[in-house]
Amino acid sequence: MSDPSTDLQIDAARLPVMLTTLRLPSIARHWHTFATRADREGWGAARYLAALCEHELTDRASRRIARHLVAAGLPRGKTLATFDFAAVPTIRKAQLLSLGAGDPWIEQGGNILCFGPSGTGKTHAAAAIGHALVEGGRRVLFSRTTDLVQKLQAAHRDLSLPALLSRLDRFDCLILDDLGYASKDQAETAVLFELIAERYERKSLIITCNQPFSEWNSIFPNAAMTVAAIDRLVHHATILEFNAESYRKRTAAAFAEG
Ligand code: ADP
Ligand code: MG
Repeated sequence: MSDPSTDLQIDAARLPVMLTTLRLPSIARHWHTFATRADREGWGAARYLAALCEHELTDRASRRIARHLVAAGLPRGKTLATFDFAAVPTIRKAQLLSLGAGDPWIEQGGNILCFGPSGTGKTHAAAAIGHALVEGGRRVLFSRTTDLVQKLQAAHRDLSLPALLSRLDRFDCLILDDLGYASKDQAETAVLFELIAERYERKSLIITCNQPFSEWNSIFPNAAMTVAAIDRLVHHATILEFNAESYRKRTAAAFAEG
């Protein structure tokens, strides 16, 4: 007859390898503690197994979010928690919280357009909404518009634009920061139009921009494309106007006054 304590030792020695092969790191880490607890509290085998599986699922969800947060490339520390709503009277806290929750605008491929002068918190708010979306299980990519335009153009040159667009399709929401810095003189922004048209009514965009629509003629190659881009962006959009004094200037002034 086999000795039960030897059997236990053999199983304990095999478990780490088996659990790693099955990609169950949380169970590998916790099975022993849970087993002690199960013995102490008289859990049955099903209860024990269910508790371990539940643990693995919870950990898996948070590992996934942590991965997506890194992949999102969001600027650090720009969250809803660090946003000072008193500084921007035109922006309501409840509205940003609800946009951060995602429903229903993101399901409908809606957009958010943030307008206002430099330093008023557009990038911070866009990043904060993005952060909240990732925490809620969505996939987000933050990018300076000029960087993304460069990537799109490079892809266009080597005929891999469709492949790049479908890679970007994996993101529920793309944040294009400083759309106004992309200019038709500097770059062939027709690819930007293609991105906007491709995502229309399917996948969301958050855009920050210092210039009002009336100045968007400097962004796209021609007037027809400008109008078409604005039409598609605005169709299912929430427009946020950041009409406040520059936060940078305000904090600098407060610092100078002591
Ligand atoms: P914009 O994109 O409109 O030019 P930013 O979002 O980059 O402005 O804001 C400039 C700086 O001021 C950033 O460091 C940002 O975190 C900070 N800031 C702006 N508005 C706020 C705010 N309402 N609460 C907290 N920080 C803010
Ligand atoms: Mg900005």
